[in-house]
Amino acid sequence: MEYILKVLMLGDFAVGKTSLVHRYVENKFTTSYLRTIGTDIYSKEIYSRDEKDKYIFQIWDLSGDHEFRLFRREWYRAALGGILVADLSRPETIESLHQWVEESQSNAVPNFQMVFAGNKLDLLNDDLSHPNVVKFKKVTSKWEGDQYIVSAKTGIGVAELFQALFNRIITS
Ligand code: GDP
Ligand code: MG
Repeated sequence: MEYILKVLMLGDFAVGKTSLVHRYVENKFTTSYLRTIGTDIYSKEIYSRDEKDKYIFQIWDLSGDHEFRLFRREWYRAALGGILVADLSRPETIESLHQWVEESQSNAVPNFQMVFAGNKLDLLNDDLSHPNVVKFKKVTSKWEGDQYIVSAKTGIGVAELFQALFNRIITS
């Protein structure tokens, strides 16, 4: 069987949503600053262990712009989960996760699976005991979902992050 799993990248502007998808799908990091307009859809094929089932992990990268908020309801349709991203070098983007969780809970399916990503660990000199990492863990522990400390730049934790969302969805 072949299944399409639609998932969303969520989080404030410039937290690194697009960079994380690029790292995961293409294993690349680019520093050019291209503002996402609308939606880009990326696909990654994942096979089940017995290779009987094929999953198309379809990753929708939404614009962080507020003016697109009106269209969000459409984009949430049939989405099974999301990666909620914060920029560890900007603590206000960690606070914003409250809004992103709220938005997904009011627009997505009841069983919407969430995984949280604290991105740009490299900007904290890879220090996992940095106060912003502690804050990220504290804030996101309020919700059900795995927490990952990652860097789209170095690639650390990125494959595990997407794999965690995939696993949550196929076992939910
Ligand atoms: P988006 O608006 O959430 O899609 O964010 P982008 O992926 O466009 O990234 C915003 C900016 O942050 C860009 O300049 C990226 O190069 C940079 N960036 C993204 N991830 C990382 C990271 O892990 N480390 C560093 N140092 N910069 C990053
Ligand atoms: Mg983007």
